[in-house]
Amino acid sequence: HSPDQYRVFGNPIEHSRSPDIHHIFANKSQQSINYQKQLVEIDGFSNAIAKFIHQGGKGANITVPFKEQALTLADELTERATLAGAVNTLTFKNGKIFGDNTDGEGLVQDLITNQVILNESRVLLLGAGGAARGVLLPLLAQNPRSIVIANRTVSKADKICQHFADNRISASSYIDLAKQDFDLIINATSASLSGDLPPIPTSIISQNVVCYDMVYGKDETPFLKWAKEHGAMKVVDGLGMLVGQAAVSFEVWRGVTPEVQPVIDKLRASLK
Ligand code: NDP
Repeated sequence: HSPDQYRVFGNPIEHSRSPDIHHIFANKSQQSINYQKQLVEIDGFSNAIAKFIHQGGKGANITVPFKEQALTLADELTERATLAGAVNTLTFKNGKIFGDNTDGEGLVQDLITNQVILNESRVLLLGAGGAARGVLLPLLAQNPRSIVIANRTVSKADKICQHFADNRISASSYIDLAKQDFDLIINATSASLSGDLPPIPTSIISQNVVCYDMVYGKDETPFLKWAKEHGAMKVVDGLGMLVGQAAVSFEVWRGVTPEVQPVIDKLRASLK
């Protein structure tokens, strides 16, 4: 019988690596799937999903700018999707739409792969957009001592704190970070995409700090370059998170845990 159909929906979508990643997972785990990317017009998201379900689609990944709309389409949501306020994984089963968010688990898995200790750690999360909010619940599950959210627009960080109502999470301006110590700094801003550096005080970088950037690319991001220059213990980019979130989606759909490292290595080589 024909392979199960999956898709990633977004705008833009041309550069998505998700079809490659999922086909490698499927080949290695002897699963029969067909995974395509689909460009969706800005006002055409719910129609595109309805059509795909009608055609027998089994599941979908959702990317920019439709993750919030995907949340409203779902009949049932996981707790991590509800708290993220966004859905990146839809499953179509028994006439229902199930919504999940695997970004945070993808990040946590990648941190663990990179031997970053989260238990009792003091985490600084830069940015208060969808990506920052989306990773908080899985990060909290790893038992950090504290998570400080720093954002240019501090009110957005405050709002996330209120939403989570967890006494380990607090908000800060960039300037106030200078007096604080951290073990792990996660850049969840989009600054790297435009070649910028968030306005972080240099004093918070030391040889005990690990720096993570959700962005990845051929060249080291401005944040990771800067962190290295100021003596950070270790720097890690977001390629592993990308493959990690895909692996968790694959597991949600297929019940099989794929191996991520060969896929990370392959994508890394293709970036060069
Ligand atoms: P949003 O647009 O929702 O949020 C952007 C955030 O970045 C805001 O907090 C904004 O601050 C901040 N920001 C933007 N430019 C600057 C700057 N120059 N200096 C300081 N802060 C800045 O984006 P998302 O949260 O959806 O995504 C953030 C990043 O995470 C993106 O680059 C995305 O590619 C990456 N990502 C990577 C994933 C992966 O798998 N590797 C998964 C998901 C996301 P303010 O509120 O003050 O404007």
